[in-house]
Amino acid sequence: MAAPSRESLGTINDDGSRAFVHPHDVRGRFNFVRRGVFAVLIGIYAILPWIPVNGAPAVFLDIGNRRFHLFGQTFVSQDFWLVFFLITGLAFLLFYLTALFGRIWCGYACPQTVFLDGVYRRVERWMEGDAFRRQRLDAANWTGEKILRRGGKQVAYVLISLIIAHLFIAYFVSIPGLYRMMGESPVRNLTVFLWVFVTAGILYFNFAWFREQLCIIVCPYGRLQSALIDDDSIVIGYDEKRGEPRGRVSDPNAGDCIDCYRCVNVCPTGIDIRQGLQMECIGCSACIDACDDVMKRIDRPAGLIRYDSMNGLAGRATRLARPRTILYTVLLLIGAGVFLFSLSQVSSFTGSVTRMTGAPYYQQQDGVRNHFHVRVINKSKDPAEFAIRAVSGTEGLTWSTPETPLHIEPNQERVTPLFVSISHADYEGSFPFEIHIENTAAGQTVTRRVTFLGPDPG
Ligand code: SF4
Ligand code: SF4
Repeated sequence: MAAPSRESLGTINDDGSRAFVHPHDVRGRFNFVRRGVFAVLIGIYAILPWIPVNGAPAVFLDIGNRRFHLFGQTFVSQDFWLVFFLITGLAFLLFYLTALFGRIWCGYACPQTVFLDGVYRRVERWMEGDAFRRQRLDAANWTGEKILRRGGKQVAYVLISLIIAHLFIAYFVSIPGLYRMMGESPVRNLTVFLWVFVTAGILYFNFAWFREQLCIIVCPYGRLQSALIDDDSIVIGYDEKRGEPRGRVSDPNAGDCIDCYRCVNVCPTGIDIRQGLQMECIGCSACIDACDDVMKRIDRPAGLIRYDSMNGLAGRATRLARPRTILYTVLLLIGAGVFLFSLSQVSSFTGSVTRMTGAPYYQQQDGVRNHFHVRVINKSKDPAEFAIRAVSGTEGLTWSTPETPLHIEPNQERVTPLFVSISHADYEGSFPFEIHIENTAAGQTVTRRVTFLGPDPG
């Protein structure tokens, strides 16, 4: 493997081939926190499809029925505009956090890091030993032991990938749905079956082999980093003033860095943080723990590598409140306010009206008639009744539906015809009117504006 340099990737050999990184084990306060965060996040990912809230799993993206259940609130396709706010809001929150704290998301909460460091690397460590042993195993001939260890690890990776893929798919089909499908022939649920295997295949490829390449080559967020942070953002950096010139502990003219390479050896992306902030740094803080441990052993203060701003590392003051972060805070608060207000406006049902296909209107003995379809989705966890009526300032408008009120079970939808008529005496040409769909118990009404069509009165 080439020595890490800013001009080349530490994960690429001189001949251009992949240099597989085996980061050394590290202990320390940040590693402890990260492990705790990983455990909590993996627990949350695993448990969300199991917890029922308002009669549906806490997170259930029911694409087949175009219903999205999120923590007790059901959204249908008509509510999809809220997703725009949600996605842009989350992206903006990420930008905001990056401006303040660099790549804290990558190091602590990105699923790539959580599963790679929290699951797959732990299995690897358990089956193949520490980094030295794994490197020796890489170089060793294919003996029985190597086949057993490497083969066992790959089998474990495949099983873990299949479990995660099933869990992932459960977000879209629910746990009961997944159980039912697992008991049926794959041919009956071919699409879901293929999705599970494609997802498991991608997970296996990524976590068994591709690993840090995803962060370095594929993920656009790392490349945006330089545009999102400034000299006051808190990043992980090396205190050059204190560390240089590197030398032996016994050398009175040397700085604090003893050039032990421990910070490089623990780095999962194979970089040398002493060369400055780099795009490949995922902010995992392993180099901080590693260097703190070295400093403790040589009886020097911790923090040669630490969380600090570039200004702080250069001995200048760090400003957390600056135009960029103040503007981001204001925009974030406005966005959150708009989103929460929009969320509060989402009703427990949706209703839509379409004109029936065929003739736009019907001439009858006693007047003119229009036919509509009214589609109502009850998004609540309780049965509900809906009154449907036509409302207009025009005299003589009457309406009828086959079922009044319309009864709908929880999370179900029904489509009912609506016949709207007006007598010949009252009809003076086409006119707009409203169809009101009212949830009688909740006192909520959805209004749809339509046009009554008829012959030219002239
Ligand atoms: S771990 Fe600390 S002392 Fe060792 S090379 Fe890195 S910065 Fe220098
Ligand atoms: S430089 Fe340090 S914080 Fe960045 S990825 Fe490497 S070990 Fe993690």
